[in-house]
Amino acid sequence: MDMQTSFLDRLFEAGLLIDTGIDGLYGRSGQFEEVIAAFERLIDKVGGADGAEAMRFPPGMNRAFFEKSGYMKSFPQLAGTVHSFCGSELDHVSLLQCMEVGEDWTKGQEATDIVLTPAACYPLYPTVAKRGNLPKTGGLFDLQSYCFRHEPSKDPARQQLFRMREYVCMGSEQHVTDFRQRWMDRGVEMMKAVGLEVTIDIANDPFFGRAGKMLVNNQRDQNLKFELLIPITSAANPTACMSFNYHQDAFGTKWGLNLEDGSVAHTACVGFGLERIALALFHHHGLDVKQWPANVRKALWG
Ligand code: ATP
Ligand code: ZN
Ligand code: MG
Repeated sequence: MDMQTSFLDRLFEAGLLIDTGIDGLYGRSGQFEEVIAAFERLIDKVGGADGAEAMRFPPGMNRAFFEKSGYMKSFPQLAGTVHSFCGSELDHVSLLQCMEVGEDWTKGQEATDIVLTPAACYPLYPTVAKRGNLPKTGGLFDLQSYCFRHEPSKDPARQQLFRMREYVCMGSEQHVTDFRQRWMDRGVEMMKAVGLEVTIDIANDPFFGRAGKMLVNNQRDQNLKFELLIPITSAANPTACMSFNYHQDAFGTKWGLNLEDGSVAHTACVGFGLERIALALFHHHGLDVKQWPANVRKALWG
């Protein structure tokens, strides 16, 4: 056993994260939230002039859109669905009996029309498709959502409910790959401004099962995903704090996203892991924000 107090325990002791008894499900202190709010203002400042359309969705999405997205093909192990009791009074009596004797009372729960959002951009594509063809300038959207992934862990940087800030770009291949490159450059600059050392690396998603291996290879070979990595809990395995995804025309085809001339839109999205960025700041500059280097405080709070 590691004799050192883990980073997670130190975060609990400092009150920055609040233990709920579930790995990866934490409350956050006011101080922790202030750091996230400050970093989001920095994102606003850097991305503000681009004129993205802001939208905020709740952390649940339309189950029909989730099904169409294909998420269950790729990441069934991560998905979270919302189920509810829909029974009669008699069913209610047996449910309470089950609870009373410690049996599984969730068996009779039925799926609702809502699933938990797995990534901030998922509700966007069907929303934009419904509007008809994109304007000549394409589409640029600013999103933020709590996201759910069933990946319980003692690593404070791997949470089950966490926030993702995203920019999503729709347009020609050139247009969206330029967008992605611009945010990779900006991401590196922003982290430098808050005193964090980063590396950028090619990445792949944990597509499920044997069939998923092919998707992993394809994603890597075609440079579809990059990550901005910062050491948090391990120097050898730095944590992805931003990701930069090029979907080619896959989402455009799936959702019917078309450009002004009727051709299929290419899409790309850039995601900031807000809790991970806050944790990287606390890890590198210490748990007491008042002690952070002056230049870092200035970059965040002016
Ligand atoms: P990882 O490889 O660490 O599992 P990911 O590739 O699954 O990350 P994305 O799907 O690209 O992550 O999500 C966008 C961003 O959301 C990531 O770059 C990361 O900063 C953040 N993120 C992803 N999963 C989690 C999590 N479980 N807890 C906190 N933040 C997360
Ligand atoms: Zn996305
Ligand atoms: Mg993951």
